[in-house]
Amino acid sequence: MDITVLLGAPGAGKGTVATRIAGPLGAIHVSTGAMLRDALKAGTDAGLDAKRYMDRGELVPDAVLARLMEELLEQSAPDAHVLLDGYPRNPAQAQTLESLARRFGCAVGRAVTIEVPEDVILERLDGRRVCPACGANFHLRTLPPKRGGVCDACGAELVQRTDDQPGTARKRLAVYARQTAPLIEWYDQRGLLLRVDGSGEADQVAEAVLKAVMASQG
Ligand code: AMP
Repeated sequence: MDITVLLGAPGAGKGTVATRIAGPLGAIHVSTGAMLRDALKAGTDAGLDAKRYMDRGELVPDAVLARLMEELLEQSAPDAHVLLDGYPRNPAQAQTLESLARRFGCAVGRAVTIEVPEDVILERLDGRRVCPACGANFHLRTLPPKRGGVCDACGAELVQRTDDQPGTARKRLAVYARQTAPLIEWYDQRGLLLRVDGSGEADQVAEAVLKAVMASQG
């Protein structure tokens, strides 16, 4: 099993990039945010518990995520390539991932950090619209749906995520700076870090990440 970690602030484009490169890489796209939102939709205890943190823009407790990751790695085929979008998000989670990977006989092969200036991030979060039915992402200015306010893929009405609203978005950026950004150094010290400029258009950024990952696979 191979593991690629995508790092980057909320709104840096991890989800958009992962959706586009998972196919060409033959990887499974795993978004922990989407897993938690699905758990909430399904009304599970874990989902309802996670909602309190997500609505405030805070990280859900590490133990909840550790259980999700353990299940994921347990169920993944030995030759799978897992593309992690949103995990790990702090050094304790990075350590958990390291030991879980060791237990399942694999390792993180690389961590890609998608770098985007904060003013661009805030504009992206403000304009992001998501499909509550199928999870597709849009942006009012840069990636508008073909028909106003409606998902191209499934026709459901698009919404703004509660945690993309300006107050909560700023809080998430602060949480990222304090808890997640130190992972850039963490992976750099292990010789696993790849840096990609994420300020361009979605296609360009996805292409650059794909190239970087493929080059690191040798
Ligand atoms: P995302 O869709 O990746 O922006 O995640 C949305 C929210 O889900 C985050 O703001 C956190 O509340 C929660 N979340 C997602 N991934 C993690 C994680 N690895 N650790 C803790 N909380 C997470």
